[in-house]
Amino acid sequence: MTHPAGPPLRGIGMTSARTRERLLQRLVEQGIRDPAVLDRLRQVPRHLFVDEALASRAYEDTALPIGHAQTISQPYVVARMTEALLAGGQRFNVLEVGTGCGYQTAVLAGLVGRVCTVERIAPLQLQARQRLQALGLTNIKFRHGDGFEGFKLHAPYDGILVAAAPESVPQALLKQLSPKGGRLIVPVGPEGRQELLCIVRREELYMREKLGLVSFVPLLPGLA
Ligand code: SAH
Repeated sequence: MTHPAGPPLRGIGMTSARTRERLLQRLVEQGIRDPAVLDRLRQVPRHLFVDEALASRAYEDTALPIGHAQTISQPYVVARMTEALLAGGQRFNVLEVGTGCGYQTAVLAGLVGRVCTVERIAPLQLQARQRLQALGLTNIKFRHGDGFEGFKLHAPYDGILVAAAPESVPQALLKQLSPKGGRLIVPVGPEGRQELLCIVRREELYMREKLGLVSFVPLLPGLA
Protein backbone atom coordinates (compact mmCIF):
# COMPACT_ATOMS: atom_id res chain seq x y z
CA MET A 1 0.00 0.00 0.00
CA THR A 2 1.30 3.48 -0.76
CA HIS A 3 0.69 6.62 1.26
CA PRO A 4 1.48 10.17 0.20
CA ALA A 5 4.36 11.50 2.29
CA GLY A 6 4.22 14.51 4.58
CA PRO A 7 2.55 15.83 7.71
CA PRO A 8 -1.10 14.86 7.00
CA LEU A 9 -0.37 11.20 7.67
CA ARG A 10 1.70 11.69 10.80
CA GLY A 11 0.78 8.99 13.30
CA ILE A 12 -0.72 6.69 10.70
CA GLY A 13 0.79 3.71 12.50
CA MET A 14 -1.54 3.86 15.45
CA THR A 15 -4.61 4.54 13.36
CA SER A 16 -4.46 1.62 11.02
CA ALA A 17 -6.53 1.26 7.89
CA ARG A 18 -8.40 -1.52 9.69
CA THR A 19 -9.57 0.79 12.48
CA ARG A 20 -10.83 3.27 9.91
CA GLU A 21 -12.61 0.57 7.93
CA ARG A 22 -14.42 -0.52 11.08
CA LEU A 23 -15.72 3.03 11.51
CA LEU A 24 -16.81 3.15 7.87
CA GLN A 25 -18.65 -0.13 8.25
CA ARG A 26 -20.48 1.25 11.28
CA LEU A 27 -21.56 4.33 9.32
CA VAL A 28 -22.97 2.11 6.57
CA GLU A 29 -24.81 0.00 9.17
CA GLN A 30 -26.33 3.18 10.60
CA GLY A 31 -27.72 4.16 7.22
CA ILE A 32 -25.14 6.43 5.56
CA ARG A 33 -25.44 5.68 1.84
CA ASP A 34 -23.79 8.44 -0.21
CA PRO A 35 -20.56 6.89 -1.58
CA ALA A 36 -18.86 10.30 -1.90
CA VAL A 37 -19.54 11.05 1.77
CA LEU A 38 -18.30 7.61 2.87
CA ASP A 39 -15.15 8.03 0.76
CA ARG A 40 -14.46 11.43 2.24
CA LEU A 41 -14.80 10.13 5.80
CA ARG A 42 -12.41 7.36 4.88
CA GLN A 43 -9.86 9.90 3.63
CA VAL A 44 -9.88 12.63 6.27
CA PRO A 45 -7.40 11.81 9.07
CA ARG A 46 -9.59 12.51 12.11
CA HIS A 47 -6.73 11.74 14.50
CA LEU A 48 -5.02 14.96 13.38
CA PHE A 49 -7.97 17.02 14.65
CA VAL A 50 -7.80 15.91 18.29
CA ASP A 51 -5.18 16.15 21.00
CA GLU A 52 -2.42 13.56 20.66
CA ALA A 53 -3.53 11.95 23.92
CA LEU A 54 -6.90 11.16 22.29
CA ALA A 55 -5.59 10.17 18.86
CA SER A 56 -5.96 6.45 19.54
CA ARG A 57 -9.72 7.01 19.98
CA ALA A 58 -10.14 9.16 16.88
CA TYR A 59 -11.80 6.40 14.83
CA GLU A 60 -14.40 5.52 17.43
CA ASP A 61 -17.85 6.79 16.52
CA THR A 62 -18.00 9.27 19.40
CA ALA A 63 -17.64 12.97 20.07
CA LEU A 64 -14.36 13.83 21.85
CA PRO A 65 -13.28 16.93 23.81
CA ILE A 66 -11.30 19.60 21.90
CA GLY A 67 -10.90 22.10 24.78
CA HIS A 68 -12.85 25.29 25.58
CA ALA A 69 -15.80 23.10 26.64
CA GLN A 70 -16.34 22.05 23.01
CA THR A 71 -16.27 18.71 21.19
CA ILE A 72 -15.36 17.31 17.79
CA SER A 73 -18.63 16.02 16.34
CA GLN A 74 -19.34 12.29 16.20
CA PRO A 75 -18.41 10.87 12.77
CA TYR A 76 -21.95 9.54 12.25
CA VAL A 77 -23.40 13.01 12.83
CA VAL A 78 -20.85 14.60 10.46
CA ALA A 79 -21.72 12.02 7.80
CA ARG A 80 -25.48 12.38 8.33
CA MET A 81 -25.41 16.19 8.11
CA THR A 82 -23.09 16.19 5.10
CA GLU A 83 -25.28 13.66 3.33
CA ALA A 84 -28.36 15.79 4.04
CA LEU A 85 -26.59 18.91 2.75
CA LEU A 86 -25.61 17.21 -0.51
CA ALA A 87 -28.92 15.41 -1.06
CA GLY A 88 -30.38 18.14 -3.27
CA GLY A 89 -27.43 18.10 -5.69
CA GLN A 90 -23.97 19.61 -5.90
CA ARG A 91 -23.13 22.54 -3.58
CA PHE A 92 -20.74 25.24 -4.78
CA ASN A 93 -20.67 27.73 -1.92
CA VAL A 94 -21.20 26.40 1.60
CA LEU A 95 -21.31 28.13 4.98
CA GLU A 96 -20.33 26.19 8.07
CA VAL A 97 -21.18 27.66 11.49
CA GLY A 98 -18.96 26.33 14.31
CA THR A 99 -15.55 25.45 12.84
CA GLY A 100 -14.43 23.85 16.11
CA CYS A 101 -11.38 21.72 15.40
CA GLY A 102 -12.03 21.87 11.66
CA TYR A 103 -12.89 18.23 11.08
CA GLN A 104 -16.31 18.82 9.52
CA THR A 105 -14.73 21.66 7.51
CA ALA A 106 -12.17 19.23 6.07
CA VAL A 107 -14.91 16.74 5.18
CA LEU A 108 -16.93 19.44 3.42
CA ALA A 109 -13.94 20.98 1.62
CA GLY A 110 -13.43 17.77 -0.36
CA LEU A 111 -17.07 17.58 -1.42
CA VAL A 112 -18.17 21.11 -2.28
CA GLY A 113 -16.77 24.03 -4.24
CA ARG A 114 -15.87 26.28 -1.33
CA VAL A 115 -16.43 26.32 2.43
CA CYS A 116 -16.81 29.56 4.39
CA THR A 117 -16.53 28.75 8.07
CA VAL A 118 -17.25 30.83 11.19
CA GLU A 119 -16.05 30.15 14.76
CA ARG A 120 -16.58 32.37 17.82
CA ILE A 121 -13.68 31.01 19.95
CA ALA A 122 -10.46 32.61 18.65
CA PRO A 123 -7.91 29.92 19.68
CA LEU A 124 -10.02 27.13 18.16
CA GLN A 125 -10.39 29.10 14.94
CA LEU A 126 -6.65 29.70 14.72
CA GLN A 127 -5.77 26.06 15.35
CA ALA A 128 -8.33 24.83 12.81
CA ARG A 129 -6.96 27.23 10.20
CA GLN A 130 -3.41 25.93 10.74
CA ARG A 131 -4.50 22.29 10.55
CA LEU A 132 -6.55 22.73 7.41
CA GLN A 133 -3.77 24.64 5.69
CA ALA A 134 -1.29 21.91 6.64
CA LEU A 135 -3.62 19.41 4.98
CA GLY A 136 -3.34 21.45 1.78
CA LEU A 137 -7.00 22.47 1.67
CA THR A 138 -7.19 25.81 -0.13
CA ASN A 139 -10.92 26.25 -0.79
CA ILE A 140 -11.77 27.49 2.73
CA LYS A 141 -12.53 31.03 3.94
CA PHE A 142 -12.20 31.53 7.70
CA ARG A 143 -13.88 34.03 9.96
CA HIS A 144 -13.60 34.65 13.68
CA GLY A 145 -17.16 35.77 14.26
CA ASP A 146 -20.61 35.15 15.63
CA GLY A 147 -22.42 32.54 13.55
CA PHE A 148 -25.80 34.02 14.48
CA GLU A 149 -24.85 36.67 11.93
CA GLY A 150 -23.71 34.20 9.28
CA PHE A 151 -20.89 35.29 6.95
CA LYS A 152 -22.40 38.01 4.80
CA LEU A 153 -19.32 38.70 2.69
CA HIS A 154 -19.65 35.48 0.69
CA ALA A 155 -23.47 35.04 0.73
CA PRO A 156 -25.70 33.71 -0.75
CA TYR A 157 -24.92 30.11 0.09
CA ASP A 158 -26.37 27.10 -1.65
CA GLY A 159 -25.68 25.13 1.52
CA ILE A 160 -25.40 26.04 5.21
CA LEU A 161 -24.45 23.56 7.92
CA VAL A 162 -24.67 24.53 11.59
CA ALA A 163 -22.61 22.47 14.08
CA ALA A 164 -24.10 23.89 17.30
CA ALA A 165 -27.74 24.25 18.32
CA PRO A 166 -29.68 27.54 18.52
CA GLU A 167 -33.11 27.65 20.25
CA SER A 168 -34.63 28.79 16.99
CA VAL A 169 -33.32 29.20 13.44
CA PRO A 170 -31.23 32.42 13.18
CA GLN A 171 -32.82 34.93 10.76
CA ALA A 172 -29.46 35.90 9.22
CA LEU A 173 -28.88 32.31 8.10
CA LEU A 174 -32.28 32.14 6.40
CA LYS A 175 -31.49 35.44 4.65
CA GLN A 176 -28.06 34.25 3.46
CA LEU A 177 -29.50 31.08 1.97
CA SER A 178 -29.73 31.07 -1.82
CA PRO A 179 -33.34 31.61 -2.98
CA LYS A 180 -32.72 29.01 -5.69
CA GLY A 181 -32.90 25.85 -3.62
CA GLY A 182 -30.39 26.75 -0.88
CA ARG A 183 -30.33 24.09 1.81
CA LEU A 184 -29.81 24.68 5.56
CA ILE A 185 -29.01 21.81 7.94
CA VAL A 186 -29.39 22.92 11.56
CA PRO A 187 -30.07 21.31 14.97
CA VAL A 188 -32.69 23.37 16.82
CA GLY A 189 -33.87 23.26 20.44
CA PRO A 190 -32.78 23.20 24.09
CA GLU A 191 -29.51 21.54 25.13
CA GLY A 192 -29.53 17.73 24.94
CA ARG A 193 -32.83 17.56 23.03
CA GLN A 194 -32.67 19.03 19.58
CA GLU A 195 -34.32 18.28 16.31
CA LEU A 196 -32.13 18.22 13.21
CA LEU A 197 -33.87 20.31 10.54
CA CYS A 198 -33.39 20.57 6.81
CA ILE A 199 -34.74 23.85 5.43
CA VAL A 200 -34.87 24.39 1.66
CA ARG A 201 -35.44 27.91 0.31
CA ARG A 202 -37.25 28.65 -2.96
CA GLU A 203 -37.57 32.42 -3.29
CA GLU A 204 -39.47 33.48 -0.14
CA LEU A 205 -40.74 29.98 0.59
CA TYR A 206 -38.88 27.94 3.25
CA MET A 207 -39.72 24.24 3.38
CA ARG A 208 -38.84 22.39 6.60
CA GLU A 209 -38.18 18.73 7.07
CA LYS A 210 -37.35 17.02 10.38
CA LEU A 211 -34.39 14.62 10.27
CA GLY A 212 -34.53 13.24 13.81
CA LEU A 213 -33.34 13.95 17.35
CA VAL A 214 -29.71 14.90 17.96
CA SER A 215 -27.52 16.28 20.74
CA PHE A 216 -25.27 19.30 20.13
CA VAL A 217 -23.50 21.94 22.20
CA PRO A 218 -25.49 25.21 22.20
CA LEU A 219 -24.92 27.96 19.62
CA LEU A 220 -23.74 30.83 21.84
CA PRO A 221 -23.90 34.54 21.04
CA GLY A 222 -20.88 36.87 20.86
CA LEU A 223 -17.15 36.26 20.54
CA ALA A 224 -14.74 34.42 22.84
N1 SAH B 1 -17.80 20.78 13.38
C1 SAH B 1 -17.04 20.93 14.59
C2 SAH B 1 -17.97 20.92 15.79
C3 SAH B 1 -17.49 21.77 16.88
S1 SAH B 1 -18.63 21.94 18.23
C4 SAH B 1 -16.00 19.83 14.68
O1 SAH B 1 -16.11 18.84 13.97
O2 SAH B 1 -15.07 19.98 15.47
C5 SAH B 1 -19.45 23.42 17.80
C6 SAH B 1 -18.60 24.64 17.62
O3 SAH B 1 -19.50 25.75 17.42
C7 SAH B 1 -17.72 25.04 18.81
O4 SAH B 1 -16.40 25.18 18.38
C8 SAH B 1 -18.30 26.37 19.27
O5 SAH B 1 -17.35 27.27 19.78
C9 SAH B 1 -18.92 26.89 18.00
N2 SAH B 1 -19.94 27.91 18.18
C10 SAH B 1 -20.90 27.98 19.14
N3 SAH B 1 -21.64 29.09 18.97
C11 SAH B 1 -21.14 29.74 17.89
C12 SAH B 1 -21.47 30.95 17.21
N4 SAH B 1 -22.47 31.74 17.60
N5 SAH B 1 -20.74 31.31 16.14
C13 SAH B 1 -19.71 30.53 15.70
N6 SAH B 1 -19.35 29.38 16.31
C14 SAH B 1 -20.06 28.99 17.37
